[in-house]
Amino acid sequence: MKYIVVLGDGMADEPIAVLGDKTPLAWAETPNMDRLSRLSELGMVQTIPRGMKPGSDTANLAVLGYDPEKYYSGRSPLEALSIGVPMKDTDIAIRCNIVTLSEEEEAFEEKRVLDHSSSEISTEDCAVLLREVEKQLADETYQFYVGTSYRHCLIWSGGEVVELTAPHDILGQKIGQYLPKDRKLREMMERSYQILVNHPLNIERKKNGLNPANCCWFWGAGTKPALSSFQEKTGKRGMMVSAVDLLKGIAVGAGMGVAYVEGANGGLNTNYAGKVEAAVNALTREGYDFAYIHLEAPDEMGHQGNVEKKVRSIEYLDTKVIGPLVEKMEKSGEDFRLLVLPDHPTPVRVRTHTPDSVPYMLYDSTGPQRHDWNYNEEECGNTGIFVAEGYRLIDKLFAV
Ligand SMILES: [Zn+2]
Repeated sequence: MKYIVVLGDGMADEPIAVLGDKTPLAWAETPNMDRLSRLSELGMVQTIPRGMKPGSDTANLAVLGYDPEKYYSGRSPLEALSIGVPMKDTDIAIRCNIVTLSEEEEAFEEKRVLDHSSSEISTEDCAVLLREVEKQLADETYQFYVGTSYRHCLIWSGGEVVELTAPHDILGQKIGQYLPKDRKLREMMERSYQILVNHPLNIERKKNGLNPANCCWFWGAGTKPALSSFQEKTGKRGMMVSAVDLLKGIAVGAGMGVAYVEGANGGLNTNYAGKVEAAVNALTREGYDFAYIHLEAPDEMGHQGNVEKKVRSIEYLDTKVIGPLVEKMEKSGEDFRLLVLPDHPTPVRVRTHTPDSVPYMLYDSTGPQRHDWNYNEEECGNTGIFVAEGYRLIDKLFAV
């Protein structure tokens, strides 16, 4: 038996008027999930423990079977693992986004966060800017590491786990009250703006109608993670297929394999075929028992507040991932179980994550169930099946 998770990051949502009061998941054309849903167990699962912040970090830890209340030590340390940052026990890892701040206002604290992703700037361009900041601000206490696109890492040696605000939670708002209380971190953010605002690369970006990447924004501080081995915990060899450093980092920390897929970028036009192939190869040729396919696009489209693109990201998940994946697994002759779910909702109305429960679909190629329900928030809710502790859901996938 082979086991697969297909996770649509931020895929869950609320009923939306322009979609006839349906959610994007219920509205989207999803022929493959519609077919499978009638042969699957449907239910709701609480991935985010009550009281914890809704994020891809806590939620994906839970879906992989790690109780976030026990294993979560901050977001950035997990990402640091994936980019190979050598963390000491006394180090604090901090996510360093390069964001777009408004440029009109004089006073730094009066500026607004216009875009947490600087128009999803490329890793190459962002590395040039981060190197400029590093030249002027790095020392033996503060070290910068290049990640992916706008997502990078700062290591603070001998630091503290200070409370910081995620930029995608305050889009459009003045930054004053959200700046770090720590004087040095605050100073470095303001200095980074002075270094980047007139950088030639940003002058060029503005000319091309792209948001300038003009400020380092620090958040998601945490200590070195201590995840137990996934294989020891489940008896299964697992492979992670994701473009996002956070997921790769969780996999590295859990001792899972990490597939490298050319052109996988966490966007709407990622390399879907390459991700499916990597998962099927791992399961049918490389001796893996479990594959975790993570798709970032629905979350990004939720943060952008774009209904049309969120619907399209779900349709792509269905036709470019679920369809080909099931077809290839059926052709391989392997029995398999497939779990499809989001990690948390990212409703387009609020443009950020919520801690609400999410719908799941559990398909078994050897013994399908029979009913007429489709896979969406409302119908999964109507089944009455509810997994209160999200980190236990994977036990259903691996159940014999
Ligand atoms: Zn997420």
